[in-house]
Amino acid sequence: MPVSFYDSVNVYVERAARQLDVEEDVRILVAEPYRQVDVQVPIHADDGSVLSFRGYRVQHNGARGPFKGGLRYHPHTDLDEVRGLASLMTWKCALLDVPFGGAKGGITLDPAALSPRELESVTRSYTNAISGVIGPNLDVLAPDVNTDARVMGWVMDAYSSRAGWSPAVVTGKPLNLGGIPGRVEATGRGVVAVTAATLSALGKSLSGQRLVIQGFGNVGRHAAQIAAEQGAKIVGISDVSGGRAVPEGIDVAGLLAKVEPGTLLKEVDVGDFVTNAELLSLECEVLIPAALENAIDAGNVATVRASLIVEAANHPVSPEADAALAEGGVMVVPDILANAGGVTGSYFEWTSNLTEFRWSEEQFNQQLLEFLDRAFRTMWDRHLERGVDLRTAAYMVGFDRVAEAVRLRGLA
Ligand code: NAD
Repeated sequence: MPVSFYDSVNVYVERAARQLDVEEDVRILVAEPYRQVDVQVPIHADDGSVLSFRGYRVQHNGARGPFKGGLRYHPHTDLDEVRGLASLMTWKCALLDVPFGGAKGGITLDPAALSPRELESVTRSYTNAISGVIGPNLDVLAPDVNTDARVMGWVMDAYSSRAGWSPAVVTGKPLNLGGIPGRVEATGRGVVAVTAATLSALGKSLSGQRLVIQGFGNVGRHAAQIAAEQGAKIVGISDVSGGRAVPEGIDVAGLLAKVEPGTLLKEVDVGDFVTNAELLSLECEVLIPAALENAIDAGNVATVRASLIVEAANHPVSPEADAALAEGGVMVVPDILANAGGVTGSYFEWTSNLTEFRWSEEQFNQQLLEFLDRAFRTMWDRHLERGVDLRTAAYMVGFDRVAEAVRLRGLA
């Protein structure tokens, strides 16, 4: 049984490597991250005292391009979690065929306990601490849990104040600072596109399907909105406080109109209140975990009633739960495809910054859907050809590409 998040991700990596019969030299290179940075992040608090946090940046594998990955602020974030998330990025970027390696960053903190000025100071302090290992052609950051365009703007400014104008050091920026229209919704839009593609491959349509979504942040709320626009019924949705359930389908646009930044779903008067445990066991066709890792584990997997799970969050299904779902005939669309709309959109933003050429939102969405469709079909074909589950098929495609880059560069 895996003991750490990183080991847990490696269960899937090793499964793909065995299927591919990859040589030992390549397996050794991808078993460990290339670089792990663990820094002190000190700031002056509003009351004049000094606060000190731990910050991490892990660069897993860079054979296919500059490292790329989000920055997460969470009280439970630690080096092990960031290592696992960095590894996921390696395989995701390769599967989508975007020219990046995998990285991730995190700071162990509760953002709700800090003022906006303190949060800005933390972001600048962290960026300065890791500035030697990041850069437009070295390692490019992006938003993740509890970080957003505002935080990315601070990262860009802190880095640029040392290196000169460098918008390409970070993606998911405000539009005025080199952000790209479509990026904010891209991960949620990708989740819906991949859900629709899977249903279509199974001979079904997204329209009329009942969806349950755990998570009402950047990914969950855009996925809900876009899926509802395409005719799906969102019968349940939750945030950290619990969720709302409406068997006939939530009026998502109406719900979004009721929530201000900071509003919790337990406070909103829509349908019935459900706990997160109850939400995961609601009757539906598609369950979309879009919050945090290991939301579905050995302890609660038996309560799942969906026939399809689409992993919008990173690693929301533990390997034990994954095995139980496979045994029960539940199909799981893996995170490295399901939430890859984010990094694909980040790739467009990065190219736009490097070339100083602006994209329209129409171009962005069209290219996004093309990249996701190509990756979906490659994964699906591998799944059918090799008789393996979707996750193993996705990792096999990614692993093949990383291994080839490693060999071509003479690294193994
Ligand atoms: P976010 O901070 O915007 O939202 C997270 C949501 O999860 C919030 O609604 C929060 O209340 C909820 N949540 C937190 N803890 C919970 C719990 N214990 N139970 C139920 N809900 C809980 O984060 P996000 O950017 O939407 O990211 C969500 C997931 O998607 C993460 O796994 C992240 O790594 C992944 N992801 C995000 C992006 C992106 O572009 N933002 C891209 C790829 C993957």
